[in-house]
Amino acid sequence: MNVTGEWWRDVLRTLLSRPDEVMLDLGAGGELLVARVRALLSALILLLPLVAGLSGGSATEVLIGLSAAVFINICAQIWLALAHHRRRHDWLPYATTTYDVTTTTVVLVALNLSDPVAPFNSVVVWCFYLLAIGMTALRNDGRLTLYAGGMAMLQYALLVVALFALADHPEELVSVQYGTVDAGAQAERVVLMLLMTLLTTTIVYRMQRLIESSGTDGLTGLPNRAWLVQRMPRILEAVREEGESLTLGLLDLDDFKRINAQAGHLAGDRAIRHVAASMRDMLGPRERIVRIGGQEFVLLLRCPIGNAWERLDRLRHSMVERPFVPERGADPMPISFSGGLSSYPMDGSDVSSLLRTADRRLQAAKNEGRNRVVARDT
Ligand code: GH3
Ligand code: MG
Repeated sequence: MNVTGEWWRDVLRTLLSRPDEVMLDLGAGGELLVARVRALLSALILLLPLVAGLSGGSATEVLIGLSAAVFINICAQIWLALAHHRRRHDWLPYATTTYDVTTTTVVLVALNLSDPVAPFNSVVVWCFYLLAIGMTALRNDGRLTLYAGGMAMLQYALLVVALFALADHPEELVSVQYGTVDAGAQAERVVLMLLMTLLTTTIVYRMQRLIESSGTDGLTGLPNRAWLVQRMPRILEAVREEGESLTLGLLDLDDFKRINAQAGHLAGDRAIRHVAASMRDMLGPRERIVRIGGQEFVLLLRCPIGNAWERLDRLRHSMVERPFVPERGADPMPISFSGGLSSYPMDGSDVSSLLRTADRRLQAAKNEGRNRVVARDT
């Protein structure tokens, strides 16, 4: 019961909170994709008034249809242009979703002019509500999906109630093309919209979990190389804006093949977890440790390079006092590491140049005899 309760709390927290920057970046790619699909569908809508004209529709009908199609296409092109500016407009997914849902409602209202039963029983136009809700899955934001579903259900329910109220004899709403109006069928439509909202919300939750796990190392639970590559631009941007210092430390365990050879591969895995825990303990609140390779770690320290060197030197000494014990009663095995440091922005302005400099210094530390940290080129 407790586990289920916690799981639900976790689902709700994930869906209702603001997605992190990586999620929003990926969502911005989804927004662009949706904008392209919308532009394509809008272009196809231009054909409808032409078909109506060819199949004997009145000139007024064709003109109204054509004006609406042109308007929809202009809007679609504006949304597309805005979506090209990745992450510049945080409000864009909400604006476009409002537009998608409201346009569907407006078209249903327009259908009412030609046939009073059409807004109730039209399937093709009504399906655009479901499309608008489903397309929010590409934006990785649970709040947006709930917003789209809530708004679609509300607008449709209000429309149905208003049209019923406006009809002189609601029970006589009958059309040759669209059949009769059935209140039960209208309620079923709202339930279908609710189901679509729940399904899309589940997809968003699952996608968020998959994105998260793709950035996590399975052995230690630490962030991995993919996480580092994705997050680093934003981390560096934040450091620059706040005028703080950042030092990147690249650490490699010394002679690790020996640990594997002497204690076995599984004990080697435990040794990696042991070292990771020691490194994690020395971090400040906004500092991170990343496992970028088998026994290679990156530390992101929010301090100048001199301070970082002192802190890592202390860690090096503390690891002698905290040796790894492969199993109960076995001899402790000392584990040391070598490290290379690089500082932002002096040694590089992006993750690859910082890693390159740190790696060069790490190699120097290895060549000089291991179990040391190098902070400058020699
Ligand atoms: P050096 O001091 O030069 O770093 O020597 P080293 O033996 O540590 O060599 P290297 O850094 O190239 O380490 C590679 C070894 O790390 C080979 C591999 O057996 C071990 N290793 C890498 N990933 C894992 C892992 O996930 N678990 C275990 N148990 N061992 C790993
Ligand atoms: Mg090594």
